[in-house]
Amino acid sequence: MNQKKAIVIGCGIAGLATAIRLSAKGYKVQVYEKNSYPGGKLSHFEQEGFQFDAGPSLFTQPEHVTELFTLCGEKAEDYFTYTKAKIACKYFFESGIIVNAYANANDFADEMSSKLGEDKNLVLKYLETAKSTYHNIGKLFLDYPIKQIIKLPFSKISNALKSTKLSFLFSSLSKYNESQFSKPETVQIFNRFATYNGSNPYKAPAMLSMIPHLEQNEGTYYPFGGMISITNSLYSLALKQNIDFVFNSKVTAINLKDKKASSITANDNEISADIIVSNMDIYYTYKHLLNDEIKAKNILRQERSSSAIIFYWGINTSFPQLELHNIFFSTDYKNEFQAIFEKMDLFDDPTIYINITSKMEGNQAPPGCENWFVMVNAPHNINQNWDALRQKCRTNVINKLNSILKTNIEEYIVTEDFLDPTTIDSKTSSYTGSLYGTSSNSKFAAFLRQSNQSEHIDNLYFVGGSVHPGGGIPLCLRSAKIVSDLIH
Ligand SMILES: Cc1cc2nc3c(=O)[nH]c(=O)nc-3n(C[C@H](O)[C@H](O)[C@H](O)COP(=O)(O)OP(=O)(O)OC[C@H]3O[C@@H](n4cnc5c(N)ncnc54)[C@H](O)[C@@H]3O)c2cc1C
Repeated sequence: MNQKKAIVIGCGIAGLATAIRLSAKGYKVQVYEKNSYPGGKLSHFEQEGFQFDAGPSLFTQPEHVTELFTLCGEKAEDYFTYTKAKIACKYFFESGIIVNAYANANDFADEMSSKLGEDKNLVLKYLETAKSTYHNIGKLFLDYPIKQIIKLPFSKISNALKSTKLSFLFSSLSKYNESQFSKPETVQIFNRFATYNGSNPYKAPAMLSMIPHLEQNEGTYYPFGGMISITNSLYSLALKQNIDFVFNSKVTAINLKDKKASSITANDNEISADIIVSNMDIYYTYKHLLNDEIKAKNILRQERSSSAIIFYWGINTSFPQLELHNIFFSTDYKNEFQAIFEKMDLFDDPTIYINITSKMEGNQAPPGCENWFVMVNAPHNINQNWDALRQKCRTNVINKLNSILKTNIEEYIVTEDFLDPTTIDSKTSSYTGSLYGTSSNSKFAAFLRQSNQSEHIDNLYFVGGSVHPGGGIPLCLRSAKIVSDLIH
């Protein structure tokens, strides 16, 4: 029997994982990628001896990566190694309070009690609820195609129904957190998790309160070699599976025959396949590859997720008070989100995230130096003046860091680069530079994301951060599993 052929459009983490899964199923797989490198947002660059992960920096649930090696009969540790961070994140407040979010839930609750005066039991109870919500409700959404969830047998959904509190749907995450804790700093720390899918905690449903389970109960991980080793190890695995990669090849059309996806056009050639999977942003897939204006417009009916401004700074000194992941909170979180999601602007007192992989591995920066990935949440692109906004943001970030860290950070920046919503769009074709496709600001958002299989076109599937179940590495990897399970 002839081997069936699958084409994957885009070599982001979800495209790579889908290619590996389909190859393990016996398909001959070809991946077309417009860039010259694999990984999409999960890419990397080196500048003057400093290693920079260009996009994602927070890694949870490594089992979704290692599972792919097992699936192909390989030992994951031969390709990919990682370690758990002792401190999931370090939080800095303008008041001078510093909180270490230890990866161990009990130590974290003790820290919240001693630094903030928060009731330790409230923190532990919150994390227990987050865990059961994740296992009883979250996993249903993350592991199944959206259309199958409503058809699941009662035995599978009964726990979800029992665990669903009305407040999860009808309260915002912030309102829910205010009802759970006594200290505003605790509320702010737990509100932050809405940004994990580019959402606004003052609008997004309290269902997102399950997200801290991943970081505070399960932990955050550091892949040795930096985040890029996730891409590199999966790319090596894919090559070993004889998957064919065609780089520098922009796909310009998905062609149909009798309502079936039958071929793609790339480099003016038509290449046929039995199955086509698009890992491209879903808006661009409909608009440019399928020429379907109506479906493209439908995608935009959902609010876009936030974007970001990132400064990559080579720092020629070290800051012992910083960890792998650090957050410097705004003093007015509510107005910061209002600026981002309603005024489509940056806030003058931004919350700043700093990731420093040289804290985990010295070779990520020259001796005595640190590689800083400095990120501020930003609105998606609606043609704001990004050059001006970025300059203003840089000044605000430096002033805030100088004030909290009691330093003059500019003196230590020896090399620099940046990313903003327009370059996120141009480098990874993410419409308007949104990091996660659509936001989860509405309670129906999880149901309204694009499903993984086309309803009107046979043999066509969608995978990655802009479709079900959502953005972020673990969800993209789950999306690849859902797609592969849908393909018989
Ligand atoms: C700055 C930033 C920080 C982030 N932080 C985190 C984090 O800390 N943790 C986390 O889990 N997630 C994070 N994310 C989100 C995460 O990076 C994404 O959800 C995930 O990487 C998306 O993977 P993907 O495979 O869906 O798509 P992408 O990585 O966007 O890949 C899509 C690929 O398709 C290619 N492509 C597009 N159009 C075409 C075409 N016409 N023809 C051929 N190829 C095409 C693109 O070049 C790209 O390589 C972050 C994202 C960004 C940008």
